[in-house]
Amino acid sequence: MLLLIKRLSVPARHVARGTTCLLYSTEAPSSNCAIGFIGLGQMGFNMARHLRAKSKVPFVVYDLNRHAMEQFHAENGKDVGMASSPAELASRASVIVTVLPESAHVKEAYLGESGIIKGIRQGTLCIDSSTIDTSVSVDVSRQIIAAGARAVDAPISGGIMGAKAATLTFMVGSQTDSDFEQARAHLLLMGKNVVHCGDLGAGQAAKICNNLLLAISMIGTAEAMNLGMRLGLDPKVLASIVNTSSGRCWSSDTANPVPDVIATAPSTNNYNDGFKSRLMLKDLGLVSNAAKDSKTPLMLGALAENIYRHLSNDATMAEKDFSVVYQWLAKKP
Ligand code: NAD
Repeated sequence: MLLLIKRLSVPARHVARGTTCLLYSTEAPSSNCAIGFIGLGQMGFNMARHLRAKSKVPFVVYDLNRHAMEQFHAENGKDVGMASSPAELASRASVIVTVLPESAHVKEAYLGESGIIKGIRQGTLCIDSSTIDTSVSVDVSRQIIAAGARAVDAPISGGIMGAKAATLTFMVGSQTDSDFEQARAHLLLMGKNVVHCGDLGAGQAAKICNNLLLAISMIGTAEAMNLGMRLGLDPKVLASIVNTSSGRCWSSDTANPVPDVIATAPSTNNYNDGFKSRLMLKDLGLVSNAAKDSKTPLMLGALAENIYRHLSNDATMAEKDFSVVYQWLAKKP
């Protein structure tokens, strides 16, 4: 697949194309310009907070978990709307962002009985930032487009820390450049890099390739740290060497799996507030499907999937950050 990489910046006062919605306008916003946000979980809640604060238009949210909606409403202003269904949210919004766990949730939210498509307006831009199966993503996008609206896939990299700090990277697949341009204006309110990867589904393809490498590099870092410590090395000294040597990677210098090596890493916080092992297993399943479809050999990817399946079968580790693989290795005799 052709990956067109564009690093882009947006003018200070950007008027989104293909819509009458002024993103940075000081004028009273029209109710036609509302942004709808579905999926207020670990990523979505933080992303929605930035989008809500930086876009001067009405904001409406929906989540199956009523408590998440109420918490968002309480923390982000009494004028935040709480929809009763994705269809109702769609009837009130001209831009919709979804951040949901898996393919089935995205299908339900868009195509279900009271899904987005049931209430969608002509021309509405749907931005799906969930990491899901590429073929499901393309199918859902095509159905949105057939209903007279627009769709882009825009999965995320940068984790919860990136969502909190609005430093995420978005990988975008779009049918047209103007859809990408409008999505970019919104995504830059929640992140700092927006990359156009190609046609519909290309964002998902880029995301799963990144996470394949991430899983392998995290297991590799955990294995190297565990060996070094058993050989008597201080983990901070070992990490500082790796981080200035050829073994350097994000799994070592930002999210080191050994507690107390990096103060802000999930490992130091008992592996909480990170990217859950069960979500990494989900992504490795997407990798495996894509590899089968494209007849691509996976050696380390298949091994990584087995390791994360093992972790996900343990109820405690499944909910912990995927760097918990270090703890699993360290306990082995
Ligand atoms: P999460 O489980 O914390 O949150 C998902 C939210 O979606 C929950 O609030 C849930 O109630 C809601 N939800 C589920 N089904 C719904 C439906 N049909 N309608 C409305 N709401 C529904 O998940 P997360 O960690 O925020 O991850 C979301 C997506 O982002 C996943 O695809 C994940 O792979 C991806 N991602 C996560 C991270 C991370 O570090 N957590 C990093 C990059 C990408």
